[in-house]
Order: sequence, then C-alpha cells, then structure tokens
Amino acid sequence: MTRLSKEARHKNKTIGFVPTMGALHQGHLSLIRKARQENDVVAVSIFVNPTQFDPKEDFKKYPRDLKRDACMCRREEADILFFPDVKEMYPPGYKTYVHVEELSEVLCGAFRSGHFRGVTTVVTKLFNIVQPDIAYFGQKDAQQAIIIKKMVEDLNIPVRIKVMPTVREGDGLAMSSRNAYLGPEERRDAVVLHRALSLARNLIRQGNDKSSDIIRRIKQLIEKKKSVRVQYIAIVDLKELKPINRIKGKVLIALAVWVGKTRLIDNTIIQMGTDTIFQ
Ligand code: AMP
Repeated sequence: MTRLSKEARHKNKTIGFVPTMGALHQGHLSLIRKARQENDVVAVSIFVNPTQFDPKEDFKKYPRDLKRDACMCRREEADILFFPDVKEMYPPGYKTYVHVEELSEVLCGAFRSGHFRGVTTVVTKLFNIVQPDIAYFGQKDAQQAIIIKKMVEDLNIPVRIKVMPTVREGDGLAMSSRNAYLGPEERRDAVVLHRALSLARNLIRQGNDKSSDIIRRIKQLIEKKKSVRVQYIAIVDLKELKPINRIKGKVLIALAVWVGKTRLIDNTIIQMGTDTIFQ
C-alpha cells in the first residue's frame, strides 16, 4: 500500500480513500463512487478494527466476506483494496493511541467506552499508510465524521474529509453491515429509527423548537415497537455535540437503539426546517 501510494503521488495523481470494515453495501459503494468521480486513484480499506470494539461487543461475529467485498470494489473500479492483518496494524507491544477529547465521550461514546479512541487511532494509521488527498465518510456515523474532522484539523493531517449522505433501504432503514443480524420481525421494527427522525423533522417544521418535547415524542413512538429499546436520543450542535434546549440554526438529531440484541444508530441534520448534509 505504501509503495502504491508513493508511486501515485510521484506521478502527481490524487488519491481518494474510503476506509471501511467490510461487509460492503450500497452505503459504502456510494462513497467509493464519489471517490472514483473525484480522484485519479481510489483506495478502499477493509479492516475490522479490534481496538474500537468493547470486549463485550461483536468483534468476533462481525460479518466478514472479503471475496464478495473485493468483487464489489472491482465493479466500482476501485484501484486498490487494502486489507491488513490485525497483527500488521497492532504488532505485539503496540502502545500509541489517538484520542479526541470530549467529542469522543458523548452520544455513542458515553455507551461505547474506548470506541472513538480506537476509531481515531486506526484512521490516523490508515491515513499515514494510504496518504490520501481526500477521504470519504458517511453521515450515517455523524459523530465519527465530526470527530475525524476535528482530529485532522487539530493534528494538521494533510487530507480533506468529505461526508456523504446516508444511503437507505426502500423503507428508510439506514444501510448498515449490522442489519444482517436482524431477524424478520426485528427488521420490520427497525424502520422506526427513520420514522422517529421524520417525526422530529415534522415537529420542528411545525414550529416546535423545544428539544425535550421532541425527544419525548420520538421516544414514545420508538417504544411502541416490542423489540426496540432506546439507548439515547439527543439533539446537539454540530461542532461540540453539546445538547441544545431550544432549536435554532443547524442541529444534529442522533439516536441509538437496541433492536433485540443488535445496536443500531441513525441521525439527521436539520437547518431551519430543511434537511442538509455537511461537507
Ligand atoms: P463501516 O464499514 O461501518 O465502518 O463504514 C465505513 C464507512 O461507510 C463509514 O464512513 C460509514 O459512515 C459509511 N457508511 C456506513 N453505512 C452507510 C450508509 N448507509 N450510507 C452512507 N455511508 C455509510
């Protein structure tokens, strides 16, 4: 990977990079397509990163299908598929971690201890190996994208971060590798995440600007589903991820729920009654 990246840069070619954990779906492919449109060379990484999983989480059973993923990357005309071993990324005696303070401790970070430290560490390593001009992330993981943007700014990492819209199934469920864990009834119930965000959007459009009211209403909606349990619902600003009481300007509405034994997240960004993505 290092050699290919050096060769590309030597020829003044731009490198677009899409880091993933594999089990690719249309959400990942939308990032690869964008990278293909905007760069001479496209690199995709597949690495199920152990340092971002809690010991109790699904690292071992996370879906892996490198052959299928490689076919999908080839079809999207990615040039490089980088799939390092855990031992290569974290050899024995590994000691260095990257941590973005405060932003990593809220929302998902409050429930997944060490998760974002693992993410920012592996993304820094991948950026150093791939040396991309532009790296592509999904709004699906909005907190992750915000943390990575902050890290790149704070550490002067010479890469541009682009955040692309969430790709959804026909019924609105955000695509996720973890959707594969859902049983048929859970899959039907999971649509409530998107419905909850739509309800929030409608309430705000109707002039309701009180976060606590909106959160209460969407919690009620979600809790009607038998298999679903709310972990958190939050309305925060996009810079510091701090709770907002009265909605004005641009806000992020983010939620995490358990559907049976599967944890799912979703979010939307609202600005004065319109949905936006952030670039
Ligand atoms: P993952 O493989 O889950 O680590 O995701 C790799 C990248 O794909 C991250 O930047 C995610 O935000 C992005 N991604 C995952 N699901 C979607 C989706 N449904 N729409 C757009 N991007 C996504």
